[in-house]
Amino acid sequence: MSEQRHSDTGIAWPRRKAGRLILAVSVVLLVSSFVTTVNRTRARQQAALDARLTGLVADRTRTVAESSERARSLVLALARNPAFAGLYTGPPDRATAVATGAPQAGRVNAALAQFQQLYQRTATEFGFIDRSGAENARVVNGHEVDPTDLSPDRSGQTFFHPVLGLPAGQSYEAEPFWSSDSAEWVLSAATVIRSSLGTLGVLHFERSLEGLRDAVADESGETVTEIVDRRTGSVIADSRTRVTRGRRLVTADSTVYPFLAGGAATSGATTVDGRRLLYRAVPASDGNHNDWAVVVSTPQVATGILAGLDGASLSLAASALLLLVLVGLTARTNQRRLHRVAMSDGLTGLPNRNRLLEAASEQLAHAERDGRTMALLLLDLDRFKEINDTLGHQWGDRLLQEIGPRIQPAIRQSDLVARLGGDEFVILLRDAGDEDTARRVAERIVSLLEQPFQLGDLACGIEASIGIALGPRDGADVHTLLQHADVAMYVAKQNRHGVTVYEPTLDLHNPRKLSMLGELRVAIEQRQLVLHYQPMNSLFDGARPGVEALVRWEHPERGLIPPDEFIPLAEHTALIQPLTAYVLDEALAQCRRWLDGGHEIAVAVNVSARSLHDPSFYDLVVGRLAAHGVGPELLDLEITESAIMVDPKGARELLGRLHDLGVRLSIDDFGTGYSSLAYLKTLPVHTLKIDRSFVRGLEADHSDAVIVQSVIDLGRNLGLSVVAEGVEDAPTAERLARLGCSLGQGWFWSRAVPADQLADWVVNSPVLAAESDAAR
Ligand code: C2E
Ligand code: CA
Ligand code: CA
Repeated sequence: MSEQRHSDTGIAWPRRKAGRLILAVSVVLLVSSFVTTVNRTRARQQAALDARLTGLVADRTRTVAESSERARSLVLALARNPAFAGLYTGPPDRATAVATGAPQAGRVNAALAQFQQLYQRTATEFGFIDRSGAENARVVNGHEVDPTDLSPDRSGQTFFHPVLGLPAGQSYEAEPFWSSDSAEWVLSAATVIRSSLGTLGVLHFERSLEGLRDAVADESGETVTEIVDRRTGSVIADSRTRVTRGRRLVTADSTVYPFLAGGAATSGATTVDGRRLLYRAVPASDGNHNDWAVVVSTPQVATGILAGLDGASLSLAASALLLLVLVGLTARTNQRRLHRVAMSDGLTGLPNRNRLLEAASEQLAHAERDGRTMALLLLDLDRFKEINDTLGHQWGDRLLQEIGPRIQPAIRQSDLVARLGGDEFVILLRDAGDEDTARRVAERIVSLLEQPFQLGDLACGIEASIGIALGPRDGADVHTLLQHADVAMYVAKQNRHGVTVYEPTLDLHNPRKLSMLGELRVAIEQRQLVLHYQPMNSLFDGARPGVEALVRWEHPERGLIPPDEFIPLAEHTALIQPLTAYVLDEALAQCRRWLDGGHEIAVAVNVSARSLHDPSFYDLVVGRLAAHGVGPELLDLEITESAIMVDPKGARELLGRLHDLGVRLSIDDFGTGYSSLAYLKTLPVHTLKIDRSFVRGLEADHSDAVIVQSVIDLGRNLGLSVVAEGVEDAPTAERLARLGCSLGQGWFWSRAVPADQLADWVVNSPVLAAESDAAR
């Protein structure tokens, strides 16, 4: 521009020449800086892509390895079922067994069926083959195979001979094979059954390869995961295609990845046909025939759009860039950028509160004008603070960043996800239709968030509570709508409903609950919380193994408030810590009073997730035991599975220390959380408490009965005692006793009552110390 003006005014040659030179130099500089930028961008894109794929390959590898490990520990747990140990008293072959009426066959089938019920999502088939190779029992998708359809010789199964050679207590995963029973490709885990009579046979269990493929598939299709055989370099499963085409594995007979064949490569990255590709081995071992690698890649060209630019278009782009520089960034673009920054959330890049208010007001006005309904979904993550505290802020931040993309599939392009701050998000549905539609969208979001997020070593699903307010029905302006969505969200959180739609009656409860937090703090200080005690009872004799302490709030105006109304609230804040400390202190004080009266009664105290992941909890326990002079064996800590799963590693460490201290540990509400047998086996717990939801259905619901039976067997196999919760009547108690459950708790014996009302129970307790040990 300046050169132009100079020439117009007739300035001499040399100055013009200098001007041109400067321009030429600056063009060269710009072009070269553009090329550098392009290269740097490429490198950065590649690095970012690799970082993403690195996380992904670690995650997928773990999924594959754990799936095999879980299958193998499952078959081992099954093998410990007494049905197999006492399988034959005579010669262990089928002909003789059948001739003598095979009295145990029914038990074997029952044991297999029971396991299949419990693991129906994992397992397609369970079976037992005796050592001669004859099949003795088989259960396919829950159905017992008719004895006449059993195969006289299954010794040709891939797992049969390798397993017979295994030491007892080990299991084996064989290569995938086509199962004509379940009509799909399966992976088998098998173990050998031995008794004093020698080897009896092989117990095996099959899960579908398609299920494993599903577990590593990426819904969005942005990445591809393949499971590759490291012996041949062929693909066993590809996340984009179903495992089978007819009876042939997708590409099992062609070598797709030559660099993986032969098993030398264990992990690395490479680029094949423009696809960035990261791989990691899941190597074979004594217990696992399969020598696999997991390969993750992106289907599109890895280096992104800039990769396609040739020299000509590069210089064209550079000229455009030059023009842009010459014109300068106008005030307007600057303003726009400022506006964008002011309207988006720094951490997640999502629209922020301001942007939400703007968009929601606009939509509310449209809805009013057109007679439509818009909705605000206020979403709050449950226990986010716990994750932040236990895993560290960088993982907490990572999780927050993943929420927006995770929610997308549940909503329309025109809807909006905004972050209000902290762990609160709002979803604006422009056209919500009606209450039911909005609720369905919210439920879908809750279930999408329950799918595990990979955070470092830990895969954890997130529970969320959503409150919904509909506009214009629930408010004439956005602030009112948000307030009402907030009220609904609190109710959802407290009732653990997941999703609640606002209705005016909710307000009546809500201020009460909001003010409750403040009052609860005072209540703890003023010792308004009281403990009631509910006895645990032997189902076989009069033994009284202990009581569970259950907290209540004696509110000066509102009377006795049950724990469900304030524990979740406390758990949502740091208040749960003083509350747990209070309960522990009170319970041990009561235990001391009983001791002083000559009665040794163990007390169980509920420990919430937050305490379990609080580094000072161990010292608290040690300190309180010492302060009251109560032995650790009289304290039982009840922990839910889900609390453990917030941070399994940390939990195991703490539980290990508490165990070493001599404290008893129970898993509470068993059956409602993640049941990983492999994991459970590694925890130093004494007791499983079967959740009362299963016990309640024991008489009426067959599948509840199967679950209860399985938990009882599982407990027995793992050497744990099992307590059935929520026993309300004699038939249930009798049924439990028949199923082999040793302990029960529930209204059938007693509700939770103040300690003095237990006086009779205490006095009539036989010598507690001895019997309680016997009962455990
Ligand atoms: P939970 O640990 O599963 O406690 C058992 C609950 O079942 C108790 O409810 C008990 O009163 C109830 N229950 C006992 N027998 C029966 C029966 O036969 N039928 C039915 N339907 N219910 C029965 P409660 O006392 O209302 O406690 C509810 C939950 O509150 C507890 O469930 C526990 O998760 C929590 N909680 C109670 N006290 C504490 C505490 O001190 N600390 C913590 N962190 N949580 C607590
Ligand atoms: Ca409990
Ligand atoms: Ca429970």
